[in-house]
Amino acid sequence: MYRDADGYDSGIRKSRYREDSLFGDYGSSYYRRTRDYRSRNGSGTDERLRTEVYRRRQEEGERRTGRSRRAQIRRRRRRRRRIRIAMVLGMYILLLAAAAAGIVGIGKGIQTIVHAFHNEESTGENLTEENAESTVIADDASQAEQTVQVVVDAGHGGNDQGTSHQNVLEKDINLAVALKVQNLLEKEGYTVLMTRDSDVKIDNYERAEMANEAKAQVFVSIHCNYLESGEADGIEIYYDSGKTEAGSLASRILKAMLAKTGARDRGVRTEDFIVTRETDMPSVLIELGYLNDSQERQNLASSSYQDKLAEGIVEGILSFLNG
Ligand SMILES: [Zn+2]
Repeated sequence: MYRDADGYDSGIRKSRYREDSLFGDYGSSYYRRTRDYRSRNGSGTDERLRTEVYRRRQEEGERRTGRSRRAQIRRRRRRRRRIRIAMVLGMYILLLAAAAAGIVGIGKGIQTIVHAFHNEESTGENLTEENAESTVIADDASQAEQTVQVVVDAGHGGNDQGTSHQNVLEKDINLAVALKVQNLLEKEGYTVLMTRDSDVKIDNYERAEMANEAKAQVFVSIHCNYLESGEADGIEIYYDSGKTEAGSLASRILKAMLAKTGARDRGVRTEDFIVTRETDMPSVLIELGYLNDSQERQNLASSSYQDKLAEGIVEGILSFLNG
């Protein structure tokens, strides 16, 4: 129930108090000065008062701005903190990236090590392979040192059947006898090279080349004969004309074969065959018998007769080599 000198009721005062509360300490002094001013001039709100209020408000605004400056400083601090945090985070990210790169680097390092290890293993394998190769070479060398004494050449093979009568094929008889010869010679401790030990076709020049490369002492080619018209049976052995040593070999083999088998003697002959011509060592081509002759064909197909043929061939070879 306050009534001041100017007759302002409490309602006006309340509003001024609101202003006071709004303006703080300035408000109360402002109120006091306004009251004094009004008491002096006896009027309410005039131009000067209004100007004063605006000025105060302006000041207050500036003060508020001032406070907001502090806030700005705080904000700046916060921003700096955020920047610092961001920088720290950035550093962490960079560190993490670096670490990741490091891990990758280490990973690559491990990979490199693994590769290196694997390469070592590979090198080991390679060395093993090389050793294996060198072992093979050594074996070849030892074979070369031992020198192939006899090359046994089973005529024909594969799609080259040679002569035939029904299901009796020359290539099969040739191989069967050749294998028996090999077996007997090896039992006697001789080194034998087979131009073929299975049903495969081999070029005749290749057969001769095999014997020449092996530097064999004797070459024996095994075949069967066939007479299209007329009758014929028995054993004949061919050699290359002019090769006297080969003639001697042929004679010794034929003699032994005839003794073992009791077959007809068809003699030693000269003929221009690839295998006898192209071989450097004494070489012969043996015709075991005639497939057109029913009895001889039956003999040639039998294992026991093949044994006799093989024994005769080996005896002849040994006679030549040791004689
Ligand atoms: Zn033949």
